[in-house]
Amino acid sequence: MATQPTTARDKVRTFTPKLIELTENVLFGDVWERPELSKRDRSLITVATLIALNRSEHWQCGYVIPKGRLDEIRSRGLDAFRADVARLLPVAQDHVAEIRNWDDVKLLTVKVDRLQRWSRPGLLCIGDAAHAMSPVGGVGINLAIQDAVAAANLLAAPLREGRLTVDHLEQVASRRLWPTRATQELQLAIQRRVVRPVLDSSGTLHPPPLVRLLTAIPQFRRLAARLVGMGVRPEHVRV
Ligand SMILES: Cc1cc2nc3c(=O)[nH]c(=O)nc-3n(C[C@H](O)[C@H](O)[C@H](O)COP(=O)(O)OP(=O)(O)OC[C@H]3O[C@@H](n4cnc5c(N)ncnc54)[C@H](O)[C@@H]3O)c2cc1C
Repeated sequence: MATQPTTARDKVRTFTPKLIELTENVLFGDVWERPELSKRDRSLITVATLIALNRSEHWQCGYVIPKGRLDEIRSRGLDAFRADVARLLPVAQDHVAEIRNWDDVKLLTVKVDRLQRWSRPGLLCIGDAAHAMSPVGGVGINLAIQDAVAAANLLAAPLREGRLTVDHLEQVASRRLWPTRATQELQLAIQRRVVRPVLDSSGTLHPPPLVRLLTAIPQFRRLAARLVGMGVRPEHVRV
């Protein structure tokens, strides 16, 4: 009789053995044993190329590739791509054939930009319509909701009283512009200093000084968590 998995790691092993193998052999094996790395640095080094979220009716998968490398992946052929996905996510093994052609693989090109003007008479753009965020930090929804709260706070009364002008719309834009810009700058810095070196590297990686600093000092760690969770300018509903 097969033994029932006992630990959380054993349970995960049943549906994604490769992840556990990499965790045990690379992360907590080869990397963890390197004497030149501090324990903190060892903890920072993670292995992740395929992110899979179980949405109960489907798996949402993100296969992270360096910008401009799609042609390289395509040139290896669809079978090689299916094999990569199946290897990284064995639970999808029986379903990779459902990727019938490259049209079934959607490329989400990451862009970081924003509109020069967010409003015109009768129109206000907020959220993704006003600013495209990078996935770094997973903060697109936070900003979209904060924009909406700021818009409600600033526009509810003038709308109710029938005195809304384009100046009110511009107040929303100017209130939300600097948090958007600051968050985008932060995302770009993380992209340049952490994500890109990881994607471009095939050798030994050392956490950049910024990451060391952020993790070395408890106050900085809390600040980083606060920045991701609450953003640089939290908004509170006041109407
Ligand atoms: C694959 C993926 C993963 C993501 N993961 C995260 C994450 O983990 N964390 C995070 O914070 N953010 C994440 N984001 C970003 C996040 O989804 C967006 O930043 C956020 O949804 C923006 O909210 P929004 O209201 O501005 O736009 P949306 O959520 O896009 O809402 C716009 C709505 O308008 C509707 N619409 C469009 N055109 C019309 C029309 N002509 N008439 C009527 N309705 C229309 C659309 O159908 C949509 O429902 C992710 C984005 C993608 C694509």
